[in-house]
Amino acid sequence: MTRSADTALVLFSGGQDSTACLAWALANHARVETVGFDYGQRHRVELVQRLAVLEAVRASFPDWAGKLGDDTLLDLGVLGQVSETALTRDMAIELDSGGLPNTFVPGRNLLFLTLAAALAFRRGASVLVGGMCETDFSGYPDCRRTTMDAMQQALSLGMDRSITIATPLMWIDKAATWQMAQDLGGQALVDITIEHTHTCYHGDRSQRHAWGYGCGACPACELRAAGHARWREHLGAP
Ligand code: ZN
Repeated sequence: MTRSADTALVLFSGGQDSTACLAWALANHARVETVGFDYGQRHRVELVQRLAVLEAVRASFPDWAGKLGDDTLLDLGVLGQVSETALTRDMAIELDSGGLPNTFVPGRNLLFLTLAAALAFRRGASVLVGGMCETDFSGYPDCRRTTMDAMQQALSLGMDRSITIATPLMWIDKAATWQMAQDLGGQALVDITIEHTHTCYHGDRSQRHAWGYGCGACPACELRAAGHARWREHLGAP
């Protein structure tokens, strides 16, 4: 792929998916910045881990360190005021009658993208990069590419500037996300993903598994563990 001169702003939570997106952006863009959101999430440890991932990437990849710019953390505590979900309240994670998990925070990605676009406008970035995925995810409607296309159009019209929303994980599954880390950054990036990224909804980092840290039982852990197992079995992982 041709390297783009455009600055990319990565929606970076510190999880496996957004870390793969960060590597993708660093491989494909001349300059990359990151933005994260503090919305009162129960798994607040990801706010610590995202800094650990950035530090490890800078240390392990000098070429990438040279193009990796500012990180911004935005306070989005208002999200906890308008929604009551298992991501922001101490309640059991379960599915509703329509099969949607109660970890779904309505409009979360739409808010994230709007704020990221506003930040991108100020920072001179024209590409937003997010880990939204239709293939192997929980059915969140704000992760669908049709939603991203509509959002991209709304943001471009509303800001009178071309905004692209890049979603490199949209059509791949979790096994392929592990492979993407391997392809873009070799074993060093796989190791960073295992040791530093955080996915577990419960914020549990007390147990180390082959695929990283987490409770091992919540939907996020199960998805991550299953993807890692499939990658190891079928995709020629080392
Ligand atoms: Zn978990």
